[in-house]
Amino acid sequence: MNSIKQNIEQVISQISLAAEKCGRDADSVQLLAVSKTKPIAAIEAAIKAGQYAFGENYVQEGVDKVRYFADLSFDQPLSWHFIGPLQSNKTRPVAEHFDWVHSVDRVKIARRLSEQRPADMPPLNVLLQINTSGEESKSGLAFDEVAALADEVAALPNLVLRGLMSIPEKADDYDSQLAAFSSLAEAMDKLKAKHPQLDTLSMGMSGDMDAAVAAGSTMVRIGTAIFGARDYSNT
Ligand SMILES: *Cc1c(COP(=O)(O)O)cnc(C)c1O
Repeated sequence: MNSIKQNIEQVISQISLAAEKCGRDADSVQLLAVSKTKPIAAIEAAIKAGQYAFGENYVQEGVDKVRYFADLSFDQPLSWHFIGPLQSNKTRPVAEHFDWVHSVDRVKIARRLSEQRPADMPPLNVLLQINTSGEESKSGLAFDEVAALADEVAALPNLVLRGLMSIPEKADDYDSQLAAFSSLAEAMDKLKAKHPQLDTLSMGMSGDMDAAVAAGSTMVRIGTAIFGARDYSNT
């Protein structure tokens, strides 16, 4: 089995290749290592390999990890991204510990995050999660709801609206992946007319990062390809 370091190198070269193929600068795509369910030791191995941005899905697990690493110092500061579904009764620990939230899809959540963001921390970076597949059950905004929520979030004092995020319906073929990601990129372009400061398009996971990069992703969220398959039996 490959080490975490080798996996990270492999993922970075895959991203670079995908970027090169469509004439993009490899530096324009950031790698977010999704460490949910993985132990501290796995994150330490990733940090040793030069990875400093991590994504977590579960509030308590994520907060425990943020707190553990807060006492340590590294060559670069770590950044912690909350990427999972967020209920309104769990916003406070997220506002108090994370640097980014990718999964904002309701104004109530956004308001609470802004109110609960501690005054001594920088504003919380926020992405709006869009449901690109139109499936009823999934979280995320419909395309026609994005503009209104973006205006409300942009007006909140302790949040900075940075862009959009999506988890498209799983598709194994490149063309379907590309179509879903392109629809998100299009929504981002429209939104930028009114919010020109937006700079982050969070899309692409282990199975579809090539298509995501081709469609304009600036942040891919990679778990399995770095840390191996997840075991949910203890969670
Ligand atoms: C788990 C997760 C990922 C990582 O998925 P992999 O397929 O393991 O790379 C990315 N984004 C979100 C929102 C996730 O929940």
